[in-house]
Amino acid sequence: MASASKSPDSNVDDEFALWNYEERLATFAKHSWPFTVDCTCTPENMAKAGFFHIPSAMEPDLVRCFVCQKELDGWDPDDDPWSEHKSHSAKCPFLLLSKDIGKLTVKDFLALELKRQVARAEFFCKQELAQLKKEADVCRKELDKLT
Ligand SMILES: [Zn+2]
Repeated sequence: MASASKSPDSNVDDEFALWNYEERLATFAKHSWPFTVDCTCTPENMAKAGFFHIPSAMEPDLVRCFVCQKELDGWDPDDDPWSEHKSHSAKCPFLLLSKDIGKLTVKDFLALELKRQVARAEFFCKQELAQLKKEADVCRKELDKLT
């Protein structure tokens, strides 16, 4: 079963391009996704479920949703990307779409893009806050040594 994870940042140059299924799919080919044959979490199914591949040395199967920014790793071959996405991010606006992404109106698209940008801002703020807390802990320990 896939699990939630955090990465320092994405390797993707243009996150807006990830609206395009082919762009998300290409990230799996570029970084050698391990599940391609006789499994459920193929690159095609992962990209259809909104994920793109952002592997690291410690997390070679790390993916992120291009809308809600949820990161998951620890995939098993039989994991269903849609089910995993829903179980870890039930309120993801991409999952809650009532129509095919190719049939969105401009109004639908802009509403979803707004939600995507809010999620991205929250994601990066959380990363910065976590880094700030780490640095504060280091400073606190140094101050404790002085007293
Ligand atoms: Zn999502």
